[in-house]
Amino acid sequence: MRIEFTPAGIYLPAIGLWLDPAEQRDAAWISHAHGDHARALHRTAIATPETLEAYAIRFPEAENLRALAFGESLEFRGARLTPFPAGHIPGAAQLLIEFEGERIVYTGDFKLRTPLLGPQAVTVPCDRLIMESTFGLPIFHFLSREEARERICAFARECFDWNLTPVFLVHPLGRGQEVLHVLCEAGIPTAVHGAVARFLPLYESRGTGFPGWTPYESLDTLNGKALVAVHGFRRRIEASGRNFRTAYVSGWAALDNARARAGAEELIPYSDHADFNELLSFVEAAAPREIDIVHGYAEPFARILNSRGWKARAQTAPFGRAAAIREADE
Ligand SMILES: [Zn+2]
Repeated sequence: MRIEFTPAGIYLPAIGLWLDPAEQRDAAWISHAHGDHARALHRTAIATPETLEAYAIRFPEAENLRALAFGESLEFRGARLTPFPAGHIPGAAQLLIEFEGERIVYTGDFKLRTPLLGPQAVTVPCDRLIMESTFGLPIFHFLSREEARERICAFARECFDWNLTPVFLVHPLGRGQEVLHVLCEAGIPTAVHGAVARFLPLYESRGTGFPGWTPYESLDTLNGKALVAVHGFRRRIEASGRNFRTAYVSGWAALDNARARAGAEELIPYSDHADFNELLSFVEAAAPREIDIVHGYAEPFARILNSRGWKARAQTAPFGRAAAIREADE
């Protein structure tokens, strides 16, 4: 099957399907609800039920939504489409496209290690793999779920010992709820910024509890509580003159300059993306004939794969991003 990598997204002309397109399209697969993938209001959007629920929060006017649960298949214009867990955020899915005997997998954003919340990713053997490589350099090595849990709780307790407010700077969908869940399970009272709180029903309706969280109201009501907030909130709390310490929970926290860039005292390198070794393991398990790499360190990662005998190409023209801290999706 021909695959076109265009400035508007990835296109499969044989079946008229776009993968995470940037602009409105007739038929689009949405891998997950982060803003750099669920980017436009499409005429027909196909995604998992969780992704569609979050998509509808972003685009309340959305109609023609086709929900496809993990493992369920849709016959679509001569192809069979089947989503599998991507281990990234709730509902995040890889898509297996079977067409005329060929198996193509589009990963969207994914990670292999067990997530703090939600199902673990699976690796689907395929002929062609379109994969992300946000952290496709050997310097990126992330904490396990258990290590991340310990670091998050230890940081909060240490802050309380010093009479400081622990503030976690997170992505509002995914990492925010994971950090909150860890704190709640540990019995640490936590206030939650509205940008993070608005996605809690998505988790709660599927059985994930956040016992004891309270909505963030003001800096004066934070005594004895941790705060889960989005990155921009740091400036606000800084200006208040309040005693606090910030932790930055992100894959980018693995970089030497992350402390300065994120403006955080504590760096916790935990991500909802695969680290370098996970990316390599994924390729080995999927064993594709050809690999197209999109997002992140696509060119160096393609070269690394080529040196290991894989036929890999970086599709950087429309997809390349500066290797910088991306607050939209990290
Ligand atoms: Zn994402």
